[in-house]
Amino acid sequence: MSTPSILILPGDGIGPEVMAEVVKVIDWFGEKRDLKFDVSHDLVGGAAYDKHGTPLADETMEKAQKADAVLLGAVGGPKYDVLDFSVKPERGLLRLRKEMDLFSNLRPAQCFDALADFSSLKKDVVAGLDIMIVRELTSGIYFGEPRGIIKEGNERVGINTQRYTESEIARVARSAFELARKRGNKVCSMEKANVMESGILWRDVVTEIHQAEYADVELSHMYADAGAMQLCRWPKQFDVIVTDNLFGDLLSDAAAMLTGSLGMLPSASLGAPMDNGRPKALYEPVHGSAPDIAGQGKANPIACILSFAMALRYSFDLGDDATRLEKAVEKVLADGVRTADLLGEDGATPVSTSEMGDKIIEAL
Ligand code: ATP
Ligand code: MG
Repeated sequence: MSTPSILILPGDGIGPEVMAEVVKVIDWFGEKRDLKFDVSHDLVGGAAYDKHGTPLADETMEKAQKADAVLLGAVGGPKYDVLDFSVKPERGLLRLRKEMDLFSNLRPAQCFDALADFSSLKKDVVAGLDIMIVRELTSGIYFGEPRGIIKEGNERVGINTQRYTESEIARVARSAFELARKRGNKVCSMEKANVMESGILWRDVVTEIHQAEYADVELSHMYADAGAMQLCRWPKQFDVIVTDNLFGDLLSDAAAMLTGSLGMLPSASLGAPMDNGRPKALYEPVHGSAPDIAGQGKANPIACILSFAMALRYSFDLGDDATRLEKAVEKVLADGVRTADLLGEDGATPVSTSEMGDKIIEAL
């Protein structure tokens, strides 16, 4: 098999700063573990606009379509607020997601013991938490037709349509079951089958796919409102949660806050398998470009580094190396190394972005 390829799109703001630390990590795996990647770099977002007048050049789009994994930093910044909607930095990211057809959005909520005090919940509720929310990303109520604001008599009516086809549900369900097999082998599917037809179909299709292809995985169903409650009450009961675009948006943000800082949260967006069997994939930290701290060496690179760990696991089948990297992060945190976002007001000295990267390399 040819050398796996990675396209790096650092983007704007703290994107390039946190991505520089990922590059160090990739180099470490190349040198010490002999994992060779064909790495190339390109522009996205405001950085691409500055050079090409568009937030994503066609040539970059083509490279992304061919890459085994795309690693993205963050896009946007106040400098670009004045731009026309069609060339805003965020449009670059949206184009990538849309044209790569990344229908399965993976958001882990993982709580490192050393940070359990950061959670909004009690320590025993979150310590050791490791769950994954799989959100359908390309359909549902954010895309369904008809939509719009119309006039009915003398009042305005806002309309959105929740619409899911069988195949859209089936593909994200498969993605969740595949993932569960690499984790705790448990899937909980969430919808509102009690009040929504799309929810009834969702439950039926997930059940059918389960029986036909994934009977070895434990499956349960929950109404999404009850799921939200359970997620806050005792999140450790879950392994993989699969849900639609709207509920996934809400549930994954809620789950994120179980674990503490935005600077810790990775994500993956996966599409259909390519010819080589690997899914199209884009990995990025959940946080944005953080203009308030950009250029100051303050950003926490862990979200971006953990996004690369997800790439190792989900694009390159290197689960052991992904775990190795996650353990290195865990060790550094246990040792008390903290970027500014991970410190309270207790006067401890934070490390810089690159010092955090170096410590993680050392721990590796
Ligand atoms: P976007 O619209 O691009 O998602 P946002 O406005 O939602 O951006 P972020 O850019 O993610 O927000 O920043 C929100 C806050 O979190 C800011 O105060 C920022 O400094 C902080 N923050 C975000 N990412 C990090 C990080 N990696 N390290 C430290 N602080 C961060
Ligand atoms: Mg945001």
